[in-house]
Amino acid sequence: MEFRPTIGLETHVQLATATKLFCGCANRFGDAPNTLVCPVCTGQPGVLPVLNRQALELGIRAALALDAELAPFTKFDRKHYFYPDLPKGFQISQFDLPFAHGGGIRLDDGTFVRLRRIHLEEDAGKGIHDRGDSTLVDLNRAGVPLLEIVTEPDVHSSEQAYDYLTKLKERLRFAGISECDMEKGSLRCDVNVSIHPVGQDGFGTRCEIKNLNSFAMVRRALEYEIARQTQLLESGGRVVQETRTWRDAEGRTETMRSKEEAQDYRYFPEPDLPPLTIDAQLIAAIRTQLPESADTRRARYQAMGLNSEELQTLTLDRASGDWFESLAKACGEAKAAAVWTCGEVNRLRNERNCSFSDLPITPAQVASVIALAKSGRASVSAARQVFNALVASPSKTADSLLNELGLEQVSDTGAIEAAVAEVLAANEKAVAEYRAGKEKAAGSLMGQVMKKMGGRANPAIVQEALKRLLAGG
Ligand SMILES: [Zn+2]
Repeated sequence: MEFRPTIGLETHVQLATATKLFCGCANRFGDAPNTLVCPVCTGQPGVLPVLNRQALELGIRAALALDAELAPFTKFDRKHYFYPDLPKGFQISQFDLPFAHGGGIRLDDGTFVRLRRIHLEEDAGKGIHDRGDSTLVDLNRAGVPLLEIVTEPDVHSSEQAYDYLTKLKERLRFAGISECDMEKGSLRCDVNVSIHPVGQDGFGTRCEIKNLNSFAMVRRALEYEIARQTQLLESGGRVVQETRTWRDAEGRTETMRSKEEAQDYRYFPEPDLPPLTIDAQLIAAIRTQLPESADTRRARYQAMGLNSEELQTLTLDRASGDWFESLAKACGEAKAAAVWTCGEVNRLRNERNCSFSDLPITPAQVASVIALAKSGRASVSAARQVFNALVASPSKTADSLLNELGLEQVSDTGAIEAAVAEVLAANEKAVAEYRAGKEKAAGSLMGQVMKKMGGRANPAIVQEALKRLLAGG
């Protein structure tokens, strides 16, 4: 019997706000444990949450970036569970009235993955379990604003799941919602998967998989889980609904706990926060500020004549394209700007392991290097040397460095002709061969002229002079 997998994805994304969702504590990764805390986010009695407006606006922006529809009326609910990283004993989340629904993402294979809901909630703290027999708790993360994005069961393979996550991340990063850095936990993902016989309606019993720390892990875990469920059903067994954890080192999932149902969480409306009416004016204002998406940008760059490799580099993140566009503006030529941004500039960025926005050289400086090459004062390789010298001494100018390095290209036709004439006189045999139809001989003559002029002669002018003098001009 053939089975078809059905996959749902639940992604949590931390919003890049300055402060937490319901208090004034900084929303920052990497500080000393329990230093970004206050009575609100540590759940002390007698305190009241206040909704962070920036979080709400970023949430609305995310919904718009995902083509979702915003609910005119929304509210927060308490979701109860007992865990050491949750000091209040409940999480402020959204249950029956999420602030957005609908929208979705088109995959490379044409499949449209619909979004069931997008809601806002607070993050929990973090348990640190690697201290022998004790567990420590860091509450810096408690109260950080989170977006939960849930798909409809429209994904049917591990590749599609991988593609969905890659595109989701790109959308959110380009819209400035979040860094979506899985290593720092600003994007986390749980998946649920079931299989059912091809041609039959309905779904099989699903398992949820947790502890997936990279998109590659999501793919591996799904492949394993689909195979496990298939084998189970083929051998006459049945799948139990449960939450499983992914053990990456061993390449398998294992039972973690039985799956909670909604009623286990005893949801009820958060009494300390008023319900929210999201007015159309605010939505319209946020829509006009929505940054350009990666897809729109790719199409625009393609129309500029950039090749697919350049498109890929320049849409890695927003900063790369922004850098390219500043350079294109400064040098007045999109193609040259793309070649330099994807070539020397990107090489430097890789070397420094930094973002385009943190490079030690500005688009204006690179434009001045490009101008040297364009005017014929520097060869392509000389321009590269000037670029490197400029990185090392950013207070100097490209012009002065060209002189300092003695790299100025000679375009003086008279001087070049004199050198060509000298080379021809000293190489009668090669000249005779060329004139007898052996065009290859010109190559060695060209090399000799370039050598004679210290490699600085403008090759186009040398070639032209050589042709003319060989032809007896
Ligand atoms: Zn706080």
